[in-house]
Formats: sequence, C-alpha cells, structure tokens
Amino acid sequence: MKPDYDILIIGGGLVGACVAGLLAASQPLAGLKLGVVEANPPSQPPPGAIDIRVSAISHASQKILRTAGGWQQLAPDQTSAYVEMVVWDATSHPDRKGSIHFSAANTGEPDLGHIVENRRLQWALYSAPAFRERVVLLRASLAGLTFDEGQGLNTATLSDGRRVTARLIVGADGATSQSRSLAGIDVTARRYNQSAVVTHVQTERPHRQTAWQRFLPAGPLAFLPLADGRSSIVWSTGPEHADQLVAMSADDFERALQVASDDVFGGIKLDAPRARFPLQFMHTREYCRPGFVLVGDAAHAIHPLAGQGVNLGFADCAALAETLAESVLASPAGWADRRWLRRYERWRKRDNLLALTVVDAIGRLFSNDDPRLKFFRKAGLDMLDRSAFAKRILISEASG
Ligand SMILES: Cc1cc2nc3c(=O)[nH]c(=O)nc-3n(C[C@H](O)[C@H](O)[C@H](O)COP(=O)(O)OP(=O)(O)OC[C@H]3O[C@@H](n4cnc5c(N)ncnc54)[C@H](O)[C@@H]3O)c2cc1C
Repeated sequence: MKPDYDILIIGGGLVGACVAGLLAASQPLAGLKLGVVEANPPSQPPPGAIDIRVSAISHASQKILRTAGGWQQLAPDQTSAYVEMVVWDATSHPDRKGSIHFSAANTGEPDLGHIVENRRLQWALYSAPAFRERVVLLRASLAGLTFDEGQGLNTATLSDGRRVTARLIVGADGATSQSRSLAGIDVTARRYNQSAVVTHVQTERPHRQTAWQRFLPAGPLAFLPLADGRSSIVWSTGPEHADQLVAMSADDFERALQVASDDVFGGIKLDAPRARFPLQFMHTREYCRPGFVLVGDAAHAIHPLAGQGVNLGFADCAALAETLAESVLASPAGWADRRWLRRYERWRKRDNLLALTVVDAIGRLFSNDDPRLKFFRKAGLDMLDRSAFAKRILISEASG
C-alpha cells in the first residue's frame, strides 16, 4: 500500500521547519512526498512586531539554513551580527582579570554569529521556495502514532481525527515531545534549579555588537545585541526569583537588571513583555526506532548559557537530510530502514552528548558561591583570555 507521505514531520518549529526545508531542497529526495504536522504555524510577522525569543545562530547553522532556503528570506535588518563576546565572573568586571573576550577579528570571519528572532526565522523557513513547493502543511496536533514495521507503514492520528500514513515519521515536536513518548523512547532528564527570564531592553550605553554574559551565582545573565540597538535579555536564575522578576514593576525590574549587570550598560529601559522558561538537561536514550527518528529539542535539551540548543538541532537536520539522501541513492527500496536511521543516530548522539555535558559542567562551575571555585574560575578565565589558541578552538567549536 502506498503511504500518504514518504516522510511526515511532527512539529514545525525551528527544527521541524529546517529539516522539512532541507529534505525539500535535496535533489536525491526530489521524488519523496513530505508533510509537516503543526498546530501553530507562523504567519508573516507584521512590521514592527517583536518576538522576545531570540537565538544566537552559528556560522554552521547559517550554512544549513541557507541550504534549506530560509536564511536568504531574512532582510538584513532582521539579523544582528555580533562581532565580539565578553564573558565575566560575578566577582570580576569586563575590563579586569576574570573575564574573557572573543573577537571576530581573531578568526578571519566578519562576525562570530547572528542574533535572530525565533518567529522571524521560523517564518523565513516556511517562506523558502522548496518548502512552499514541496511540503504539505497539516494544521493539527499529533494525537496518536502506530508503527507497522512489517509493512513499513506508520500511521499518525491527528487532533482533527485525520489519519495519515508515512514511511518515516520525524519527531521534531520539542522537549516535551509527544511523538517520542508514543514511540516509547525514554529520556534522561534533570530540571535545573533555574528558569530563564527573557525580554528586550534599551540600554544607555550601546551594545557595540557584542554578546555579553555575566555569570552570577544563581545563573548567567546575557545581553544579546539586536539590530535596532536594543538588547535581548536571557537571565537564568532560581525559579522563585524568575517569578519575581516577571511579576515586579518595570521600574523594579530595570533597577534589578542594572545591578545584576554590574552597571556595565548604564541605565536600562524595559522595552518588551517578560516571560520565563524552566530549564532542563535532557537527552533521549535512542534517536530512532523502526520508522521513527528524532531531531532537535525532542532529542536533547541544553542550558541556554552557550546558545547551542537550536544550533545542535540544525546540525541534526543536516545530518538526517544527508543520511537520507545517501540512503535513497544506495537503497531505493529500503531507504527508511533502521540501519540508515542508526547511522544518523551514531553521528549526532555523540556530538550532542558532548555538548550537553560540557555546557552542563560550565553551568555547575559558574552557578555557585563556593570560594575555592571562585578562585579557579577567575584564574581559568584569565588563562583562557591570554591564550589566542584556546580561544580560537572555543570559537571554532561554538561556530559548529
Ligand atoms: C531562554 C532560551 C534561550 C535560548 N537561546 C538559544 C540560543 O541563543 N541559541 C540556540 O541555539 N538555542 C537557544 N535556545 C534553545 C532553542 O530555543 C531550542 O533549542 C529550539 O527552540 C528547539 O526547537 P525545536 O523546533 O526542536 O522545538 P520547539 O521550538 O519546542 O518546537 C516544537 C514545535 O512542535 C510543535 N508541537 C509540539 N507538540 C506537537 C504535537 N503534539 N503535534 C504537532 N506539533 C507539535 C510546537 O507547536 C512547536 O512548533 C534557547 C532556549 C531558551 C529556553
């Protein structure tokens, strides 16, 4: 029996839209029918609309997004290049020992990456020509999944009662992935005792196209430069403090932020609503089952302190698209077989686990008040700051 779709992607967030775009743009996959199940697809953001969720997008991710046809859809004023990055410990200051400075000037690249509003990037991916031409959007939520290994025909039941069949189901439905649960894949997860408060602010002193991050004992506080001169705030802190930061008056929030940022930016004016997101470490035991494969936050969730979450997800998308292109050429009848999906799993699981572990360790090292660790942190940051070689390696890793 012929399935309704060859590949059905559950979830059309940044990662689901990216994998759909890559599959749609892939020449070897030109004969496959593609669908995306998403209840809340983006619409074109009206001029002046802002999304308080932003992401730092690495060079490697930009390449992937370009291949999917999405990056080209962003107007120059919708991406904000950052050319420097400054990280400092709570006990220090950006101009003193105990801080580390990264500069694009030392990398041979014009910048270290770009800050982009999530909703604009998602819309850009949906607007890519290959996505528009080849991807069928099913506006619904996933309600059920059944797998028929023998026939290679899997069935997704949608919230509106529709039943659609596919050779391969891709779970891209985020950290609380229902498709993952329905496929029976377990996770290792641990809640951080932190939530991230996000918003946008105007600062008295300019951001100088620099991404700033101060490590406070309760969690890191980041100021990410936006194209219009404002900064996006990602303030990770204890859950109760996060609740207070969201609930307090704008004046109180601005004062709290000025103190927490050590007055590096002078006066601060709140310029957008505030929201908070609980943070967790999560990794799935497996990335695939027969007829099913996971990408993005559905497979792994990481602390935002290194701005890696969606970048890892885009790398998953590229690896999956490349693996499937190879499998279709090598094995036209068995391209969705588990051995190909396992190849993708081996490729991505190791890299993702390494990133999750390193970022987790950095979070533990910095988010505490232990006086011995304070000394080592300061000395370590100092040493790193003086080593151009170590900084080049760090930048190259962060750029993917
Ligand atoms: C505060 C904060 C700051 C961050 N900053 C960065 C950064 O600077 N750089 C970076 O790389 N990463 C960053 N991240 C991580 C990044 O936001 C995530 O990795 C990314 O959003 C994951 O994308 P996703 O598409 O996998 O999942 P999601 O964004 O969760 O998307 C899942 C999609 O699936 C849909 N869906 C869910 N359930 C169903 C269902 N049952 N049926 C159908 N559809 C469904 C949802 O509607 C959604 O569209 C940050 C995260 C946080 C919390």
